[in-house]
Order: sequence, then C-alpha cells, then structure tokens
Amino acid sequence: MKIYTFGNGEAQGRAHMKETLGGKGANLAEMCALGLPVPPGFTLPTEMCHSAVGEDGLHEEIQRGITAGLKHIETVLGRKFGAPQNTLLLSVRSGAPVSMPGMMDTILNLGLNDEVAKGLANETGNARFVYDAYRRLLQMFGDVVLGVGPEHVLAEDPFEALLEKKKDAFDVVEDIDLPAEALKELVEEFKSTIEQRGKTFPQDPQEQLRLAVQSVFASWNTERALAYRRINQIPAHWGTACNVQAMVFGNLGTDCGTGVAFTRNPSDGSNGRFGEYLINAQGEDVVAGIRTPQPIDALKKEMPKIYDELMGLFDKLESHFRDMQDIEFTIQNNKLWLLQTRSGKRTAKAAVRIAVEMVEEQRITQDEAILRVAPESLEQLLHPTLAPAAKTNAALEGRLLGRGLPASPGAAVGRISFSAEEAQRQTTNGENAILVRVETSPEDIQGMHASQGILTARGGMTSHAAVVARGMGKCCVVGCDALRIDYANKSLTIDERHFNEGDLITLDGTTGEIFVGEIKSEPPQMDDTLATFMGWVDEARTLNVRANADSPSDATTARENGAEGIGLCRTEHMFFAPERILAMREMILSQTQEQRTRALEKLLPMQRADFDGIFRVMDGLPVTIRLLDPPLHEFLPQEEKDCVAVAQELGISSEALRFKAMQLHEFNPMLGHRGCRLALSYPQVARMQTRAILEGALLAQADGICPIVEIMVPLIAHEKELAILKEEIKNEAQAVFAEKGNSVNYLIGTMIELPRAALTADEIAKHAQFFSFGTNDLTQTTFGLSRDDSNSFLPSYVEKGILETDPFISLDTSGVGQLLKIATEKGRSTRAGIKIGICGEHGGDPKSVLFCHQLGMDYVSCSPFRIPIARLAAAQASIGAKA
Ligand code: PEP
Ligand code: MG
Repeated sequence: MKIYTFGNGEAQGRAHMKETLGGKGANLAEMCALGLPVPPGFTLPTEMCHSAVGEDGLHEEIQRGITAGLKHIETVLGRKFGAPQNTLLLSVRSGAPVSMPGMMDTILNLGLNDEVAKGLANETGNARFVYDAYRRLLQMFGDVVLGVGPEHVLAEDPFEALLEKKKDAFDVVEDIDLPAEALKELVEEFKSTIEQRGKTFPQDPQEQLRLAVQSVFASWNTERALAYRRINQIPAHWGTACNVQAMVFGNLGTDCGTGVAFTRNPSDGSNGRFGEYLINAQGEDVVAGIRTPQPIDALKKEMPKIYDELMGLFDKLESHFRDMQDIEFTIQNNKLWLLQTRSGKRTAKAAVRIAVEMVEEQRITQDEAILRVAPESLEQLLHPTLAPAAKTNAALEGRLLGRGLPASPGAAVGRISFSAEEAQRQTTNGENAILVRVETSPEDIQGMHASQGILTARGGMTSHAAVVARGMGKCCVVGCDALRIDYANKSLTIDERHFNEGDLITLDGTTGEIFVGEIKSEPPQMDDTLATFMGWVDEARTLNVRANADSPSDATTARENGAEGIGLCRTEHMFFAPERILAMREMILSQTQEQRTRALEKLLPMQRADFDGIFRVMDGLPVTIRLLDPPLHEFLPQEEKDCVAVAQELGISSEALRFKAMQLHEFNPMLGHRGCRLALSYPQVARMQTRAILEGALLAQADGICPIVEIMVPLIAHEKELAILKEEIKNEAQAVFAEKGNSVNYLIGTMIELPRAALTADEIAKHAQFFSFGTNDLTQTTFGLSRDDSNSFLPSYVEKGILETDPFISLDTSGVGQLLKIATEKGRSTRAGIKIGICGEHGGDPKSVLFCHQLGMDYVSCSPFRIPIARLAAAQASIGAKA
C-alpha cells in the first residue's frame, strides 16, 4: 500500500482523492500542489484503517510507510525527528472521506521527550513554549493513546485538574500566564499521573509515533464515531486516513497565532470573511474557548501583512475549490501556514445565498448551484425552528425529556392537552396547546388544527397524526415509546418524570425531541434569493410537483409554495367538521335507503362548496379528488360518554349506536371494508361525491374558472372493481350534466396501492385514465407492516441494518419500488401515455423523488409544506440524469 507525501510545492495526492486520502489529506495535497504554504507531511490512506493493527501492533507495511514518510518530511525541512538538536515535532490527525468534526482523534507535538525538550528549550531560548508543548503532548497522548483521560463523561479530567491547581498555586487565571517553571512541574506531575494509572509515556519518539498512528486509525470505531456514522449514514467500511505532518507553532510568542475562518458567513451566507484567531496560542485553544478569540478583522490592525496574505489565500482557495471554504491557519514567527481547508458547513439560508451569489459571480453554473443545496435543508427556511443556542442550554439544564419520530418539522411550544376539546379550549383562551394523544384519529382533526403541535405515543411516519399534521404544516412528533398517558387522571410520564394537563412543553418536529417548558424559536426565513434559486430549480426539473390538499386553504398554501395541481384531495377529512360529522353518522346509521339518501342530501351541498372552493384556488391546474377511503367505524364516536351524546343528537338509542359500532368493528380495518369496497357496498355515497365534485366544477366554470377534474377511486385490487365504479361515476356525471344543461371535462383514474393492483396494472389501465401510487398503503401491504403500529420495532430494523431507512419515509426501491416499475410498464402497455403520479408520503422525500423521476412519472404529490423540497429534489434528479 502506498503512502502519499506532500510538501515543498509537490504532492502525490489531489483534492478528488477523498475516498483514499480522506477530506483533510486530499485537500492538504491539493493546497500543496497549488504552491500554498502547507507544512510538509504524508497521508496513510483510508484502506490502511481496517488492517492497521495486527497481533504484534502496527502492521509492518504501515511501519515501513511511516519510516518513508518521515524521511520525506525530514528532508524537506532539514530537521530530525527525535534528535535533541534541530528537532522535528509532528502532528497525527484523522481525516475521513467526509468530515466528522471532533469525532476522531488528533495528537499534537509528537517527538518531545525529556531530552528533546531540554535541547529545544536551549535552542529556542523559550522554555515556556517547550514545556507547554510537552505538557499538552502528555495530556493528549495520555488521554487518546493511553486511556488516562476522565474515567467517564461526567468525571473530572485528571490533567485539567492538575492544571487548575497549578494556576491557583501560581496565582494566575489564564494558562498562558503560567511560567516555564510551573509548566516543567506540570510535565512531571502529568507523567506520574500516567504512571499511577499503570501506564508509561514512551520516551522513544518512534514509539510515540507508532502508537499515535495506531490510535488515530482505531478512533474510527469509537462509540461516538459509530454514533455519528449511524446518524449521518456514513458507511463503516470507508475508514479514516491518517495524516502525519510537521508541526508549526502559533504559541511561540506574540508574533505567532492561530485561527479558523470561513470565506463567507456560514450562518447567513453573506460574502465577507468570517472567523476568529488568537495570538500566541495553539489550535485547540481557539476551539476550546479557554481564551476569547478575536474576530478575524482585528488581525488587519494587529498583523496587517499577514492579514493581506491571508485574504489573498482565502480568495485563491475559494476560486480554486469553487465553494465557500472553512480554513485553519497558524502564524509562526510572522510566517503564515495553512493547516486545512474544506467546504464549510452552512445553514440552509447560507447555502441558498452562497449558491446564488456564486452563479452571479460566474464561479459556478446554475446546475451546480442547484446541486449545492440539500433539499431537506429547505425545511429550515419554511418552518420556525428552535434557536440552536436555546436548545443546547435546555438540554444542559436537563430539560430534554425524550424523543419520538420527527413526523412534521417546525417548532411548537404549548400547554399539554389530552383531548381535542381541551386543545380547542386552550386556544380559545388565548393559550398555545400541544395535543398529546396515544394516537390520533380523524375525530381529532379540529383539535389538531387548534394546536401548535401534536405529540403521540404510537404511530409511524405515515400514521394518521403524521399525515394530517404534515398536511397542515403543523409540528408533530409521533411514536414516542417512552410516553405513558393517563387520560383518566389527565397526566403523563416520560422516564419517571410526571406532567399534568396545562404544563408547558416544547416540540422539535425536525428532530423529534421533546423538552420541558418553553424554548425560543426562530421564524422561517424566506427572501428574494430563495425566490431566484427556486426559479432556477423550476427551469431545471421535468417532473411536476403537486400537493396533497383537502381544503381551499390548504390549496392556497400549496399554490403559494409552487404546487402545479392537487395530486390527492382526501375527501374524508371534509366530513369531520362538527356540523358535518352528524350528517355522516346519520348516513352510516341509516336503516333504509330513504334515510341514507336524506343524510347524503345534507352532505352534498357542503362537499360541493368545498370542491367549488378548491377548483377556484387551483384555476387551470389539475385537481385529483379521491372518493371516500377510510372504514366507516372511524366516523363513529369512540368513547362511551360521546356515544350517549351522539345517540341523543341523532334521536336513536345508545344501544343502537353501540350495536352499529360493533357491527362495523374489524380486526384489520386497514385490510377491511374501506376504499372502493365502500363505494361498491354503498354506491350512493360514490354518486353523491361525484355529483358534488362535478356540480362544484360547473359552479366554478360558470365564473370563468377552468376546473381540471380528476376523480380517483382508492384501494382497487381488481380491474372489475374499477369497471363497475367507473360506470357508476359516468352515469352520475351524465345525470348531472343533463340536469344542469352544461358539462365539464373530467378523468377517472385509480390509486395503485395494493400489490395486486400493481401486478395487474395492464388490466386496470384499460379502465383508468390515470394512476396515482398510494405508497403508504402499498408499503404497508407489500411488507405486511402496519403503518400505524410498526414503530415499536421498525426503528430497531434500521439500527440493526436490516433496513437502510424506514420504508414509510423513503421508498423501498428494491421491493415496493419494483411494484411501481412493473405497474408503470404494464399500465403504459395497455394505455400509452397514461398519466402517472405518486401521492403517498414518499412524494416529498428527496430520494424517493429521484426514483420517481427515473421511472418517468409525470408528477409527485406531497404535503403543501414539502413542495419546495420536492421541487428541488426533482431538479436535482433531472440534472443528475444529464450528467
Ligand atoms: C397511500 O396509501 O399512499 C395514500 C396516499 O392514501 P392514504 O395515506 O390516505 O391511505
Ligand atoms: Mg391509501
């Protein structure tokens, strides 16, 4: 295996070799090749990581690599590692292919021992610097290599404790004020601390180097690195590279310093240098916050020449890497050195602004700008978010209560309300409410609407609460297993902490965290730059983006966010308003045809008005309206006290109501009497809805609006189901047009949300003018996994690596996705050009959008608030396909 040296304007690696050299190593090589001032060094590649250590310690081959690399550094600098005169000190740093800040280990000042320290102190005449460097080495080496750090996360660091004691003894506040003599004492004390723990600090510099390299490679597998990789989906097989480099010192005196800077502001994206530095300090001091660093602009006054040189280098690096850079530098005796450069992490706001301005500055193309913004990150710009500092403080104060699934983003503060009624009551009293339920049912709609946020103990990412909350743009956390709700006593416990109705809590819908009390949030940040960016996004994409919206107000939000139609209007949501649910219940409880017709006649005008309203908002854009889908028991009251009240309102006995509820009870309601099966049992309902849709369209049309009507039948498994219902719909349409003496164009199509439908899509397409994939149900039925109940074990599937991601969040392309592929091909085989879209929650998931683009779908449909995300994901998919 090869090592990669760099130094003196030459380098064996380059920036594109990140997989081999890690991000740090690749960019050090690139900077060196560009002739920039980089201390010489070498990189042991990532492929060495997994085989670095054998039974006898560091692998032979790696040792040979280290010897060769060391020779290179010594030759470039004319210094010798381990020699008491003209000595060379080294740093050993980790560097993975993608940055994992602070997750792996680093050791500085390697090469110091008692003898070298003495020699270096004589040579430099700066004993203070030498013994400070030595005590730092002992501290880092002791912690990282010998394991003599704090015994657990909350324990005291033995070295820091000694350092503090020494400062007290010498009556100084800052480390920097400790004299050489004190530091010399500390060195001895640190060595005995190491020995007391049964370890020895090796005086042999070669041994130090070998052990340091070994530890850096091993740090790929520390607990924190593993956790970080899991969260950020970084594959374990990548490994870290190990960079060995000559030390340069920012702590040799007042003509020295060290700093970190960004070439643009990583927080708002503005084009100005942003960073900080410390005079007479080593890199870790800037990060550790022991002394307060100066803003980078102050360097202009303090070291004007260095400042100008640094600004020149920033320009050069940004132009070369064509992106905002995050740079580490050190000044040693008035000479500037660059220690690292990488593309800087940034907020979504900064990402958009930097991308747009770099196009305007002609540094990158529009397509590149589009690829530079992560679709998911746009959420930060669309919803309020918890202020990061306030959140960290709350966590430090022990106010983080627990977490669930981040079902719908944003931040919400409110008073715990255990029922929809209580949430509404709180809101009417001018308070904010958080609706807390074991799980929500459609009956909770009004309460969800009134609340700032929703928290449930059960349910997955496509459960009722999740779907409805996303549609409303409400912050929602679902499936918090630790949550125990006691409705009777109006209280809840999480991890033995107890709360009552009315207590204040805060939800972070973007991470799924739940906090005690109130945490400040920041409003969403939309601006002209985002509008410009989204304009480019729309030019680049070919996939249309529609919204799942159930009301004129949702439709308005959808249009504002750029929706090009409605891909799914779930009509059942319209039945839950208090004035409507009674008519719906009357319809369900009807004993005779006449009673049913009468109840439906009450519902007709309400539905017509809704559809009319939606068509007006969506003027000229397609609107897909789905016929009634959920099982009827969902419309009946669930609690005993409500049964009595509802029976009274309907003028029937509560026994009759309970009897009906019992009749409708199903063991597997999601596989039961729902979807098109309801329309087949009660064709009058489908006919009423068809009439309401078409009459609504005619009303809008009469006012010069252009309604584009698509009627969709849910849960089709067999072509004959659709053939029958299509006839019902067509007959009702003819009746409406004949009565009104006017007509409107409309399409009849179906959802493909059962495996049988996908497999027989060629037969179904004979009757369907469009398909819309209901991937929530299709995932549920393909995996045989309940979308409402699987959260108790599904997360462990992801942790164990059985599944890469929750299939209700990101489409399972190799399983469910294959059904989509089959259905698309088969559908088009019998009806060329059939319009095909997706309206399951996956329609707003960037990875799933990419898959839909690759399948050649016409559109994706998602909640109104995810539309910008889907637009960006669709644009990235188009650009990716061109490359
Ligand atoms: C689906 O199943 O994917 C779908 C969109 O319908 P619903 O979520 O209403 O069942
Ligand atoms: Mg469905």
